[in-house]
Amino acid sequence: MGEIKCVQMTRKFEGEGIDTYALKPITMDFKAGDFVSVIGPSGSGKSTLLSLLGTLDVPTSGDLYFEGVKLSQLNAKELADFRFEKVGFIFQQFHLIPTLTSIENVMAPLFSRKVDYDKKERALSLLARVGLQEKAESLPSQLSGGQQQRVAVARALIHEPEWLLADEPTGNLDSETGEVIFELLRELNQEKGCGVICVTHDPSIAERADVQVRMKDGEIIEVIDMRVTGHA
Ligand code: ADP
Ligand code: MG
Repeated sequence: MGEIKCVQMTRKFEGEGIDTYALKPITMDFKAGDFVSVIGPSGSGKSTLLSLLGTLDVPTSGDLYFEGVKLSQLNAKELADFRFEKVGFIFQQFHLIPTLTSIENVMAPLFSRKVDYDKKERALSLLARVGLQEKAESLPSQLSGGQQQRVAVARALIHEPEWLLADEPTGNLDSETGEVIFELLRELNQEKGCGVICVTHDPSIAERADVQVRMKDGEIIEVIDMRVTGHA
């Protein structure tokens, strides 16, 4: 299981005459298997950080390492393979494909990929794990928001990633349903040993992580190991 390390990593967006540093230099280690929450006001750079860590975006300067491999040295194909193997994403808006059933959505990341296991069998067992076995043939429009997010969680796990990156996964759900999703992520983190980096607005969720990262104005202003402070 791999550690993610960023060193003086920045992300600048160029505008008309003004540049925005969405991320000022960030140096931080994300330890394999940790459950990390990222909290901070809107516009503080949380989504930008998550996109960079998941290699959906490229830093303007600085370096990002995964298991000691400098990601800027990989070509596009290597980076796509790396992302496929190591990272699963969960978004606030679920991002399911509306014309596909639950099980097809869960298998979608494997489309055109050769794998040495039965795709359908694994997708079904993941749907069972998130409590949706009986909804395997349902379309997203036939599911509640919480159910759609559970399908998205199963999809993120289909290739057994080392990291689950979640951008406000409970942000579009009522608090009770959000709690179910959070608990599911917590359990999967422990069962499968995958690290989780979870962006949230909700302090009660953030403080139940192993590590809480607080951001403001593109900077990490505080990193709290909740295990040491005794809250977790
Ligand atoms: P958060 O997720 O914490 O709300 P973001 O990472 O989305 O914050 O944004 C951080 C800053 O970067 C904001 O000032 C935002 O306007 C800016 N930003 C983000 N994405 C872009 C983009 N594609 N183009 C220009 N500015 C952007
Ligand atoms: Mg955001």
